[in-house]
Amino acid sequence: MTAAARSLKTPEDLASAGLIEPARLDGIRAVADRYAIALTPTVVSLIDRADPEDPIARQFVPDPGELLTTPEERLDPIGDHAHSPVKGIVHRYPDRVLMKAVHVCPVYCRFCFRREMVGPEGDGTLSPDELAAALGYIREHADVWEVILTGGDPLVLSPRRLSAIMRGLADIPHVKIVRFHTRVPVVEPDRVDEALIAALRESRKVVYVALHANHPRELTEPARAACARLIDAGFPMVSQTVLLKGVNDDPIVLGELMKAFVETRIKPYYLHHPDLAPGTGHFRLDIAEGQKIVSALRGNISGLCQPTYVLDIPGGHGKAVIGESAARREGGCYSVSDFHGEEHIYPPR
Ligand code: SF4
Repeated sequence: MTAAARSLKTPEDLASAGLIEPARLDGIRAVADRYAIALTPTVVSLIDRADPEDPIARQFVPDPGELLTTPEERLDPIGDHAHSPVKGIVHRYPDRVLMKAVHVCPVYCRFCFRREMVGPEGDGTLSPDELAAALGYIREHADVWEVILTGGDPLVLSPRRLSAIMRGLADIPHVKIVRFHTRVPVVEPDRVDEALIAALRESRKVVYVALHANHPRELTEPARAACARLIDAGFPMVSQTVLLKGVNDDPIVLGELMKAFVETRIKPYYLHHPDLAPGTGHFRLDIAEGQKIVSALRGNISGLCQPTYVLDIPGGHGKAVIGESAARREGGCYSVSDFHGEEHIYPPR
């Protein structure tokens, strides 16, 4: 494996790095006309070029299949726009808002649920006036207990910009929790430095960091060290993973990923069923398959390693837990299944 010196952002970069065959260039150019591309040097170094089905390449190297859309796919699959009262804010649940301060990412995931909004051509970074309006909205809504900075990837913002956001939140007493959703510790671990950590401290709130990673090979030593810097600085971490065909749709791979999180002091949190984003059908699996994989985790690996399997209901209706129901009413009793799939009867109380 060879490491690139800079991020790869064009089909030509990918061809020069040996990540796509020259014969596929035209097809990939057509994808690049529609969706952003970026692979950091760290991600490039993780790709096994000898494996045509490499799970890291599958997440980041564009595929002509992205131009095939199906009728059920949506430009805004989880319904952000329906719940956006001011630019940069999504207020879907009573006690929390999303703040989308930036629309670029260090990498562009081929299955991204916000693929129509992120990228250099996306909705950009909030201007100082737009940020003031977003903070004003949060200030006026006393029920907002938590602000979730998401993306784009908020940890690509400079420490100066992050400090400005965090200082703005510091002045809002009803906001108690600030959560960052990020891929940075995995794909660009050196970015997690003292200046970034100092910026995260500026809100004087409880800060959580949710790490997005989908394959155990992403949890490299530098990635684990970057997470340790965040956790040691006082920011608890949770995980989020997308269940993806050809990447982690296997209980052994998924179990290894969940264990790698726990070994890194990251509590597994959400396992997302893939959203109906355009051109991502090749990543989606049946919910029943997902339930089978999740059931196989239970019992076989520690309870600490269990994520919650969820689906974002299209149209902005929020999350639904979709793990196989472990208890079914049968007559006057419940039938519960153990991790071998065997049924047992339990009295109603
Ligand atoms: S880092 Fe997140 S927002 Fe950015 S492309 Fe990947 S999934 Fe989408």
